[in-house]
Amino acid sequence: MQDLKLYNSLSRKKEVFEPLTQDRVGMYVCGPTVYGDAHLGHARPGITFDVVFRYLQHLGYKTRYVRNITDVGHLVNDADAGEDKIAKKARLEELEPMEVVAHYTRNYHRDMHLLNTLPPSIEPTATGHIIEQIQMIEKILNNGYAYEVDGNVYFDVVKYNKDHAYGKLSGRNIEDMISNTRDLDGQSEKRNSVDFALWKKASPEHIMRWPSPWSEGFPGWHLECSAMSTKYLGERFDIHGGGMDLVFPHHEAEIAQSCASDGHEAVNYWMHNNMITINGQKMGKSLGNFITLSEFFEGSHKSLEQAYNPMTIRFFILQAHYRSTVDFSNEALKGAEKGMTKLMNAIDTLESIETSNESSINVASYKTKFYEAINDDFNTPILIAHLFDVVKQINSIATGNGSLNEASKKSLTQLMSDFCFDILGLKKIEAASQNGITDDVMAVVLGLRKLAKENKDWTAADFIRDELAKLDITVTDSKDGANWSKK
Ligand code: ZN
Repeated sequence: MQDLKLYNSLSRKKEVFEPLTQDRVGMYVCGPTVYGDAHLGHARPGITFDVVFRYLQHLGYKTRYVRNITDVGHLVNDADAGEDKIAKKARLEELEPMEVVAHYTRNYHRDMHLLNTLPPSIEPTATGHIIEQIQMIEKILNNGYAYEVDGNVYFDVVKYNKDHAYGKLSGRNIEDMISNTRDLDGQSEKRNSVDFALWKKASPEHIMRWPSPWSEGFPGWHLECSAMSTKYLGERFDIHGGGMDLVFPHHEAEIAQSCASDGHEAVNYWMHNNMITINGQKMGKSLGNFITLSEFFEGSHKSLEQAYNPMTIRFFILQAHYRSTVDFSNEALKGAEKGMTKLMNAIDTLESIETSNESSINVASYKTKFYEAINDDFNTPILIAHLFDVVKQINSIATGNGSLNEASKKSLTQLMSDFCFDILGLKKIEAASQNGITDDVMAVVLGLRKLAKENKDWTAADFIRDELAKLDITVTDSKDGANWSKK
C-alpha cells in the first residue's frame, strides 16, 4: 500500500502523513456554533472529516476525533464586538441560552446522523471548559503575550509577531492587517487593532458569564479550540481540520495561542475544506438561498424541485474534491441521485452474478487504483470515477459480456463494500422509498388527514398524526400542504 498524502494548509503542499505516535492519530475539527438549523455549510466539513476519520480507522489507526460544540463566546462581529450569537438568539426567542444550545445541538446531531457521519470520539463544549480556558489565558499572560484592560484580556499580536510569525497559515502580514482594521477599530481599548480577545468582561445585560481573575465574563471564541484540543489531544497532535472560512482569524489565532502558551505549535497537519455555493452564489440568509439540511431532506424550500435523500447530498459532496468548491443546483443533485442509484444497483447486481471458472475483471488493479486515489489527499472524485469503471464492468458481466470467478467475486464484493460503505460512508437508500411505494402510501394517509381537517373531524386528524408519530414519522404543515419525515 502507498503512503497517505495530505495537503497541509500550513506548508501549502502535499505531505506524506506520519502520525506522532505509531498507531494512533489525534484529530481536532472545529464544530458548529449552535444557534441555528444545520445547513449545507455544516454538511461539508461534517462529511469531509468523516471520510478522513473513517479512512484513518480503515488503515488501522486508533483515531481520537474531537469535534467541539461552540455554545458561548462566538460574537456576531469578528472584531470582538457585538452580541454573542447564542445570547442574541435566546433574547429574540425569549429562551435560556442553554435551551437554544440544546435545541440546535440535537438538530445538528440528527442531520449529521442522517448524513451517515460517525459521531466524534469526544464532543466537548466551550461552556464545559471554562476552567481550562482561564488556565490557558493565565499561561499566555505569564509568558507576556497578553494584557488586561478593565477586566478584558487581549492577545498581544504585535508582541507575539516579534518572536513568532503571526499570519503564516493565512499568508497575511501584520502591517496589512493593521492598516485594514485600523479605521474600523479606532476607539478600541486594544493596544493594536489586530489584537483579539481572550476574555471579555460581561456587560450587565449579558447572561452567559463566569467568574475569572479579571472580571465576571466569558472567553473569546478562538480560545476554546486551543484549550480543548490541548486537553484531549495533548500539546502536540496530528490533524486539525475545518472550513477554509476559519483559516483567518480563527485558526491563525489558535496557532498563536498554542505558541504563546506552550512555546511551540500544536498541529502537524492543517486540513481545510472549501466552501459551498448555490447556483453559483455564496450561501446567505439575505440572498434567499440559505437552505437548511432538513429543507433538503424534505424538499420544503421554494428553490428545491424535490426532496433529496441525505445519501444524495453525501454522494454529491464527495463527487468534488474537498479542496474544490461545490456548486449546488437541482440539476446537479438529480445527477448525483442517478449516479448514487446506479452505484448501489451495481452492488446488488454483483451479488446476483453467477460465477464461472473465468474472470474478465482484474480486481487487484482496481484495488490499487482505489487506494491511489484516496491516498492522494482524499481524491474522492477520482475514486468515484474508478468505482463507475467497476460499475460498467459489473453491468456488462451481468448481461453476458464477461465473467467472474468465485474468488474475484468475493474480493470485488469486499473491495466495493470497503470503499463505498466503510470509507465513503454511503449506504443504500431504503428500497421502499426508492420505488415510491412509501411516498404514495403517505400521500394517501396525509390526504385522509387533510379531509378530516376540512370536515373539522379533529379526532380523526389527531389520530392520524399521533399514530404516525409512534412510527417516528413527523408531519409538518405548511402553506403548500403537509410534509412528512421519518427519523
Ligand atoms: Zn475552532
